[in-house]
Amino acid sequence: MWNLSEEQQMIQKTVRDWASAKLAPRAEQYEHDKVFDVELYKEFATLGFPGIRYPEELGGGGGNILDMCIWVKELARVLPGFAISASVACGLGAKMLGYGNEEQKQKYLIPTVEGTMIGAFGLTEPNAGSDATNLQTRAVKDGDEWVLNGAKTFITNGIVADYILVSAKTGPGKTEIGIFIVPQGTPGLHAAPIDKNCWFSSDTALLTLENCRIPADHLIGEPAGGLKLLTKNLNEGRVTYAAHCYGIAEGCFDGALEYVHQREAFGQKVADFQNTQFKLAEMKMKLDLAWTYIMRAAAEVQENPDAGLTASICKNYAAQISEELAREARHLLGGYGCMNEYAVGRLARDVFVAEVGEGSREINYRVIWKSLTQKFK
Ligand SMILES: Cc1cc2nc3c(=O)[nH]c(=O)nc-3n(C[C@H](O)[C@H](O)[C@H](O)COP(=O)(O)OP(=O)(O)OC[C@H]3O[C@@H](n4cnc5c(N)ncnc54)[C@H](O)[C@@H]3O)c2cc1C
Repeated sequence: MWNLSEEQQMIQKTVRDWASAKLAPRAEQYEHDKVFDVELYKEFATLGFPGIRYPEELGGGGGNILDMCIWVKELARVLPGFAISASVACGLGAKMLGYGNEEQKQKYLIPTVEGTMIGAFGLTEPNAGSDATNLQTRAVKDGDEWVLNGAKTFITNGIVADYILVSAKTGPGKTEIGIFIVPQGTPGLHAAPIDKNCWFSSDTALLTLENCRIPADHLIGEPAGGLKLLTKNLNEGRVTYAAHCYGIAEGCFDGALEYVHQREAFGQKVADFQNTQFKLAEMKMKLDLAWTYIMRAAAEVQENPDAGLTASICKNYAAQISEELAREARHLLGGYGCMNEYAVGRLARDVFVAEVGEGSREINYRVIWKSLTQKFK
């Protein structure tokens, strides 16, 4: 149970080789230019990984959550910004399309599974982040169209995406939320880049929707059924995101381990100081615990998509150790931990955001607390 299958070992090796040949040599340039390389993503997609979690009848690989965790962590180990854009391109938005009708699946989902289309998911707003029920974006039915007005912020792939799955209030009730397919280029949809201090190789946008009209059949499922669809995928998203955090931690660890075997101080390798050895041993313990828990959580959520406690522990622990390992790894590199010459410094820049996505630390603590207090109610 605790070993990867032969097929999973193959996924790991293929993505690791691809990332080291194609992604690593360009990583620094992408970070400098602050771009998500769509063409490189499409090249990656020809290997079939973005579609791995989708059923074979949709052109996917019919794989499981752990299969997806493996490719996500392998990309994050090298370039977290590219990894997040890649996983969002075929992630939550596409998952929502799975609840759509046949036409929506044919037109948007299948090309996304194949990697020829890029998706984005727009939930967060300037005044509604963790509390999704506070959305201000409105969708009003007008004949055979929906008219959307509002703003979405921090949207990964908001500029490069072919379509954005936008969540909007469809009625006065707090949970009356619908999910709409808004194709890029729809009149009234504007996307602007956001200047951020992490995930430089990912595209992050502020979207505004001004009298944005979309056909009535661009609604997914029921007008007030969006929140239910979202929560169905929450736990899988948290486990996959944990794999992203783990990938950063592993990249930092590998970089530090290599560095201390090259660098000398006081006539010996930095690796020969007992402090270095104990630090790296402790880092390895945390890494292995995080990965083992990701494997457990992937299996549990696969079996029971409502396994919220496990998913929240998994996400928070992986995010926590990614911060700890990044800090320690950078420290072991001394001044070089602050230089772009080594991947460790770049990876360490991306751990803060790891705590924010898929439910901030506190939002996941809330889930854990809820399960602890249940029997006292
Ligand atoms: C680079 C980047 C990319 C992103 N990509 C996307 C995307 O593609 N699509 C999308 O929809 N969103 C995206 N997000 C948004 C992300 O999901 C939100 O930032 C996250 O949900 C937190 O919301 P917020 O930033 O509004 O923080 P807030 O919800 O305002 O939280 C602020 C602080 O309050 C704490 N807090 C909030 N509620 C509670 C509570 N009940 N108890 C205790 N503490 C609480 C939080 O933990 C946090 O520390 C992205 C964010 C970033 C930074």
